[in-house]
Amino acid sequence: MMIKPDAVERGLIGKILNDISEAGFEIISLKLTHLSIDEAKSFYSVHKDRPFFNDLTQYMSRSPIVAAVLKKENAVSEFRNLIGDTDPVNAKEGTIRAKYAISKGENSVHGSDSNENAEIESIFHFPN
Ligand code: ATP
Ligand code: MG
Repeated sequence: MMIKPDAVERGLIGKILNDISEAGFEIISLKLTHLSIDEAKSFYSVHKDRPFFNDLTQYMSRSPIVAAVLKKENAVSEFRNLIGDTDPVNAKEGTIRAKYAISKGENSVHGSDSNENAEIESIFHFPN
């Protein structure tokens, strides 16, 4: 998972990590980092042909993020339930995006969408 720039900028790291812990996830790896534009483009390369790709990669590289690897039974789907819909307008009450996201673009957190991508993204952030 990542805590995205909009949330780090607003001092929400502690609140979001607390929500994650209270939902029963174990934090396996954790770091504060600042993605370069090229790293943001690489991370979100599946979206390279989408109209929002430029805004997305500018946003993801504009200030620091937190990257973490989490552990829980059915972690991918459980985490997506915890964060809620991509667009905070559609996110269920109590989810992280409902509580903290600004917009569909600046939506405070990232969660992997499959076990396979979770593995790829873990190696991206924690190659050692
Ligand atoms: P993430 O992958 O960041 O967890 P997601 O899986 O809910 O989010 P994706 O469809 O993978 O959503 O889109 C990746 C990110 O691109 C979104 O989280 C959001 O920041 C941005 N994004 C997606 N769709 C739009 C859009 N229509 N307009 C602006 N930004 C968008
Ligand atoms: Mg996604």
